[in-house]
Amino acid sequence: MTEAAIEVHGLTKRFGTKTVVDNVSMTVAKGEIAGFLGPNGSGKTTTIRLMCGLLTPDAGEGRVLGRDLRRDAAAIKREVGYMTQRFSFYEDLTIEENLMFVAGLYGLSPARRFVADTLADLGLTSRKTQLAGSLSGGWKQRLALAACIMHRPRLLLLDEPTAGVDPKARREFWDEIHRLAADGLTVLVSTHYMDEAERCHRINYIAYGKLVAHGSVAEVVRDAALTTMVLEGAGTAAAAKQLRKMPGIDQVAPYGNTLHVIGRNGTALRASAETAAAANNCSLHDADTSLEDVFIQLMSEAQDNIA
Ligand code: ADP
Repeated sequence: MTEAAIEVHGLTKRFGTKTVVDNVSMTVAKGEIAGFLGPNGSGKTTTIRLMCGLLTPDAGEGRVLGRDLRRDAAAIKREVGYMTQRFSFYEDLTIEENLMFVAGLYGLSPARRFVADTLADLGLTSRKTQLAGSLSGGWKQRLALAACIMHRPRLLLLDEPTAGVDPKARREFWDEIHRLAADGLTVLVSTHYMDEAERCHRINYIAYGKLVAHGSVAEVVRDAALTTMVLEGAGTAAAAKQLRKMPGIDQVAPYGNTLHVIGRNGTALRASAETAAAANNCSLHDADTSLEDVFIQLMSEAQDNIA
């Protein structure tokens, strides 16, 4: 078996008395696109920083790109590309000048060659003289990606890279990520978008510092073992009100003219849904559970555990 790009065990990080990353173990295979999901403040950024050697764990161990997380942090830093949540450029420099600056920081030589190759690689050559400050969100993000892959890292850590970017630019960004992964780069990417989670080979869901689910999207949905039913008809608003107080109903979510009800106890849910559908003149049918339903369930269960 080939060595994983990331393999960490029991990773723990405390800030003061607060345990922000709590005993997290995670494996990311080489060439894989791994998604990192979870509510805000759950420790995704902190975990990413532990993995690239920017922070030292209080407990736990692991290997990143075959190197020891504690002993070889400096070497790991050099082989990782890290795109932070709020990347910044010199707005009054062009795309090319910004990349020349980054090439200098990394000591890349010949810098012009690295910059030209990266510009071409990401389709930025025709825009290289444009000021960074004048770029749209999607192009700014492409420049940020260029800046973090120019030194040819083997692992990309992307922290919410598409927050606030329009759907077309997000899709293009993901096409780019898949192209890079097909060339052998490993990618760990945090996101809040469900469609992006579905573009990952595997996902990891962290809630309040703890890793609570992992696997392919299909595995995570299957493991959650939720039942979903859909009510349809004029009476869904009244049915929703009724269902929120009934047994077996963990989630009630209106979607247009339909109402989705979701729960762990399939038998109880079915009985409640049948009663509410009959009382409010709604039709009722089974449906697939969505990834978003699973995440909302995981989040509320994690909240219950710490409450
Ligand atoms: P996420 O990326 O999932 O939103 P973070 O890793 O940014 O989560 O933050 C997890 C928790 O750790 C938050 O409560 C945050 O306020 C806290 N935190 C992050 N960095 C620090 C720090 N340097 N000092 C103290 N608390 C921090």
